[in-house]
Amino acid sequence: MSNTLKTALPGGFKPEGRHLWRPYTQMKTAQPALPVVSAGGVRLNLADGRSLIDGVSSWWTTVHGYSHPHIVGAICDQVERLSHVMLGGLTHAPAERLAARLAALAPGDLDHVFFCESGSVSVEIAMKMAVQSWINRGVHGRTRFVCFRGGYHGDTIATMSVCDPEEGMHALFAGSLPQQIVADLPQDSESTARFEALLDAHAHEIAGVVTEPLVQGAGGMRFFSPETLRTIRAACDARGLPLIVDEIMTGFGRLGTMFACEKAGIVPDVMTVSKALTGGTLPLAAAIASRGMFEHFWRDEASAALMHGPTYMGNPAACAAANASLDLFEREPRLDQVAQIEAAYARLLPPARDIPGVVDVRWQGAIGVIEMPGLPELDALKSGFVEAGVWVRPFGNIVYLMPPYVISQEDLEHLIRTTVAVTRAWAEHHFGAG
Ligand SMILES: *Cc1c(COP(=O)(O)O)cnc(C)c1O
Repeated sequence: MSNTLKTALPGGFKPEGRHLWRPYTQMKTAQPALPVVSAGGVRLNLADGRSLIDGVSSWWTTVHGYSHPHIVGAICDQVERLSHVMLGGLTHAPAERLAARLAALAPGDLDHVFFCESGSVSVEIAMKMAVQSWINRGVHGRTRFVCFRGGYHGDTIATMSVCDPEEGMHALFAGSLPQQIVADLPQDSESTARFEALLDAHAHEIAGVVTEPLVQGAGGMRFFSPETLRTIRAACDARGLPLIVDEIMTGFGRLGTMFACEKAGIVPDVMTVSKALTGGTLPLAAAIASRGMFEHFWRDEASAALMHGPTYMGNPAACAAANASLDLFEREPRLDQVAQIEAAYARLLPPARDIPGVVDVRWQGAIGVIEMPGLPELDALKSGFVEAGVWVRPFGNIVYLMPPYVISQEDLEHLIRTTVAVTRAWAEHHFGAG
């Protein structure tokens, strides 16, 4: 099917489909993208007049819903006053204030905030911090990272190298990626022993360990226990290895606490945040370093400075948006709303367990998951959701929900029930009626 629409759609929107190269998309065969003309609350308004309940918060970002007036107001005020200024040699109140607030919110002594514009880059910066922290101490040859099967940390070259080697793009980009050390998550005594043996076998070359906390997101929404995260922290402590915890998906309430690390009671050496940081309005990310990590860079020699500086780092409008988002976490009951979403999953997701072929149904915080044996004819399933008025984006072998925290009980129940019903109808077609 050609994805070139010749006619103008309402609102003057003309998706020509020829010049815009879309993400993870085979442009030759893909169905046309749905034109969105506006969005408010939890609803996406399409050019053809339909509206969809967003069940995935626009790639896990819009936790306060779309166009929250407090964030929109803060951005507009800031853009009028100072829309951008370089952070080299200059500073501004929105970045200073946001850094201080993030330092206060983040667990333990995570006190030093380095801004950038995307999650992947924040992970790259965390990795550079780890590598350079050794160089600054005169220790050479520590350049590799230990990461975990099932993990996801971004799409850039270095972050691809710490993603799951099978799920990720390793095979495709083999040869151009740094070779990292991939471990299974230490979930029992046997896997813990293997993890620790791996750390010891590569002792002289490891720069640090990278993990998502308590849930591997893009790797398939796989939950793991706080105990596992504590095991990873303890193994790093015993060997003096920096631990990078990637809270890009979990940060800002996703699992019911502000950061997932809190649930395990651990403090990383560097924590990365992005996605919900600006409430899904403007791109912004940060690598937040502990006092100990920062001290490795606190030297008289200029050469010991952290060698990084993205052009748009700490953009004032993005920082104003993030400050406004944090205001909303203070003023409105966001974490209670996450608890209500979790309670609705507990009531309404279990019936999905008898969907033909279903492998697992699970939930935690704002994340609800129906795991299937696979998702053949994914386009048909995706279209089924749109026809039913919900925006749900299954991937890999899972159908999952991660709605904005502000979703009303009524919309939430409708979203969950619709998701289960559409998945069931599709599964009955593909896996038989049981
Ligand atoms: C989304 C995500 C990233 C990448 O963030 P981008 O902003 O897409 O570069 C990294 N780590 C985790 C855990 C993520 O969920």
